Amino acid sequence: MAGKWAEGSVTSGRVAVITGAASGIGRATAEGLAASNVRVLATDVDAGRLAWAEGVDGIESLAVDVRSETDNGRMVQVAYERFGRLDVVVLNAGRPASGPIDELPIEELDEVLSVNLRGVVLGIRAAVPVLRRSGGGSIVVTASVSGLGGDPGMWPYNASKGGVVNLVRSVAVDLARDGIRVNAVCPGPIETHMTQPLLQSDAPRREELRRNVPLGRWGRANEVASVIAFLASDQASFVTGAIVPVDGGVTAKTGQFDVRHG
Ligand code: NAD
Repeated sequence: MAGKWAEGSVTSGRVAVITGAASGIGRATAEGLAASNVRVLATDVDAGRLAWAEGVDGIESLAVDVRSETDNGRMVQVAYERFGRLDVVVLNAGRPASGPIDELPIEELDEVLSVNLRGVVLGIRAAVPVLRRSGGGSIVVTASVSGLGGDPGMWPYNASKGGVVNLVRSVAVDLARDGIRVNAVCPGPIETHMTQPLLQSDAPRREELRRNVPLGRWGRANEVASVIAFLASDQASFVTGAIVPVDGGVTAKTGQFDVRHG
């Protein structure tokens, strides 16, 4: 069923939209896909930081707030109008949230769920009719290892990413009959814009996270992007509903013993 994708390449000639592409994993995914001749619509709520995409071959950009149903619809429409098709949807935008469960303003929970969970639902709902019309496609969601267990003080983020993990499984079952595959990556600690404050000003926490990774280091955005590209490609044509850790071994542990790196 190599069918609708160009022969000679698993990705060449296809069209992808990516949310949260101003930096980090989203930007690395946009650059990686564009380098394999996928035409990319890179989107983010932060139009200023998305400026890196201006003038880059094969990449167009658009300001999109994933919390908005209108913006999600516009994103899919613009990709289809500019490139004439849509094959790949990478729903990657996200934000952190933490605080004591009995103290954090409940609006913070609403906000993180709105971006990390509702935003993914809106992205899938907007994309499905267009992917269906094209005879199928691939949706890849950036979840997190924090969607597979609990972290201290991070219950709102854990809840949002846990929701996304099971959303992906459920929607994968429903959309399989349309030839639409839906998968998720679960990154461990990755050096990105989101983790910059911690990397720069919280050395003990940065080191704690590093020591807990069996591979003994933080991951890089391109190491997540390459797995997203695989799931998006025809090489993963029999993979749907998969939740793929990209975490240097974090989720391989029982947690009973310290990894003691360094
Ligand atoms: P990042 O900050 O570089 O990228 C996240 C992007 O999402 C930002 O550019 C931000 O502007 C955008 N965004 C936030 N709210 C948005 C909204 N309402 N609409 C559109 N865009 C919005 O950080 P990253 O680490 O590359 O994050 C990408 C994804 O990876 C996120 O979903 C994050 O939760 C997930 N993740 C990151 C790590 C990590 O350690 N960096 C680990 C696990 C999962």
